[in-house]
Amino acid sequence: VCGANGDAIYHDLSDHLFGVEGEWSMRQCSDDQCGLLWLDPMPAPESLGALYKHYYTHNYDKPSTASPLFAIYEHLRSAYCSAEYGYSDNRWSGIAIRYLARLLPGVRTQWDLSVFCLSARPGSQVLDVGCGSGRMMRRLAELGWQVHGLDFDPKAVEAARNLGLEVRLGTLEEQNYEEGSFDAIIMNHVIEHVPDPLELLKSCKRVLKPGGKLVLATPNAWSWGHQRYGRSWRGLEPPRHLHIFTPQAIRKLAVGAGFNRLQVSTTVANAHSVLWSSRQLSRNGKLSPYVFSFRSGAWGTVMQVAEWVKLRSYPNSGEEVLFQARA
Ligand SMILES: [Zn+2]
Repeated sequence: VCGANGDAIYHDLSDHLFGVEGEWSMRQCSDDQCGLLWLDPMPAPESLGALYKHYYTHNYDKPSTASPLFAIYEHLRSAYCSAEYGYSDNRWSGIAIRYLARLLPGVRTQWDLSVFCLSARPGSQVLDVGCGSGRMMRRLAELGWQVHGLDFDPKAVEAARNLGLEVRLGTLEEQNYEEGSFDAIIMNHVIEHVPDPLELLKSCKRVLKPGGKLVLATPNAWSWGHQRYGRSWRGLEPPRHLHIFTPQAIRKLAVGAGFNRLQVSTTVANAHSVLWSSRQLSRNGKLSPYVFSFRSGAWGTVMQVAEWVKLRSYPNSGEEVLFQARA
């Protein structure tokens, strides 16, 4: 990103999640103002598919709507998005819910990310790069967006197509989308997985309409969780996370790709599951996909609130970087 060299900060990392064989180091940029982390050795592009044989986006898990608590949460979330982003699929609206959301640590950004910070623009074109099994596409389609998806994982593409969604297989660079095709592009935890993030952002810029919006979320190398758990931090995820950004590194990369009006922040959205998984790995040497239980939920909530408090004094310490910009 900045051209500086990096030193290995972790050695002998292995895949604790899906058991891909090998050992990797993680390097960190020597420039404190950049702080990018990257995997060493970098997998060859042709071997990337083998890292995703057992990935968790292969199935669309329908959210359980049976629980009354979940139903209340969904009503509140939907009311907030209606009010904040101009969607009107719910008759609740207004100032109260927006202020309520501000009082709940991390909940507001979680809700912002549930529509990927996209204001209502019925009939506009959005591209979900790295759409996985299509959960976000489905929600945005219900809210009036014309949704298009893309993923390099054939099983994820199949799962999304089974929902009736229009999804292509491959990388953005390989597609022949015309210049200025989309009003918005979203990338949820994607940029850390690609071999050439700069090319990816340049391609986004090319296929966005002038002034079109790019929104992405990615793990934050400066997060409290990384400081606390080091090599056990969930965000490292070797060998699938090839680059792990800081707010500064993503800013620099996006400027290089020609984006304007950058908004970069860090958030505690999903900190509960990231911190819980990191704790499991540091204690047991094992990592499994996050499962909600009373224990993980209660512990995670307390930790997410703690991180939210920390964020008041250290705004760069959230678990995720949330990045928004205009083409
Ligand atoms: Zn750097």
